[in-house]
Amino acid sequence: MKFVTFHAGDGVARLGVYVQDGRVLDLVRSFPSNSVFLNMLSFIEAGEDAVELVRRTIRQGDYQPGLLHDEDAIKILAPIPKPNRNIYCVGLNYAEHSEEWTGNQSLPQFPVIFTKVPTTVIGTNDTIQSHQGLTHELDYEAELAVVLGKGGRDIPKEAVMDHIFGYTMVNDITARDLQRHHQQWFIGKSLDTFCPMGPYLIHKSSVPDPHQLNIGCKINGEQRQSSNTRNLIFDIYTIISTISRGHTFEAGDIIATGTCAGVGMSFNPPKYLKQGDLVEVEVEGLGILRNVVG
Ligand code: MG
Repeated sequence: MKFVTFHAGDGVARLGVYVQDGRVLDLVRSFPSNSVFLNMLSFIEAGEDAVELVRRTIRQGDYQPGLLHDEDAIKILAPIPKPNRNIYCVGLNYAEHSEEWTGNQSLPQFPVIFTKVPTTVIGTNDTIQSHQGLTHELDYEAELAVVLGKGGRDIPKEAVMDHIFGYTMVNDITARDLQRHHQQWFIGKSLDTFCPMGPYLIHKSSVPDPHQLNIGCKINGEQRQSSNTRNLIFDIYTIISTISRGHTFEAGDIIATGTCAGVGMSFNPPKYLKQGDLVEVEVEGLGILRNVVG
């Protein structure tokens, strides 16, 4: 199942789901008296019963045709436009990318974790600000992101899947010069618009194995990154289990799992982003996350 947050011309953010013919069903208006369907976060927090209700509604065609929208007639927002908390991110989680950044030093023994503030989030087709004058090394990072459906602390690896709602994509935009200057990565990765996310939130039931997905990034049509999530150094179970030790996750938390080789910094000379560039992040089965640098 493919969920989306969208506008339909009236400027109001709505929760939707794709039905069989590729159109988007407005779930807010389908269940007007049910606050669970008010937005993506309330829906996620409601748990798998709410997902099952939507699944049954779609299967039975039990909705008003007037509540369906053609995809090209709506504006897709980030699936969670305003996360409640920072986005958790894993650094150096593909061996070849780790070597790009560290210069062939040994691979991390423990997951490298940092966060991006919620105000970095933008949706597909939104503009990535180039922040000229502040950075001269604007870079891209295609990543698979996990969204939690259930919070918790001290989650064992074998229980992690029970806590996952689904998957989306993140482009972990980074100002390399700021990342380097400040050592701690927060500033270089938390400027406004530095977290394109989406376009969809795909329920876990539609992703049989999140560790077998092709992942890549194109700049102006040129393939720069290309790998597979099977190459993650720390898999999703390890990442979530590790962070949850003594730390309480909440439903709706987002965890970006790290990027693969081929970021702009890795080329000689580097191929940093410039105004007008089209950046396309793609993870198999999750759509394409498209943004232009402005
Ligand atoms: Mg990253």
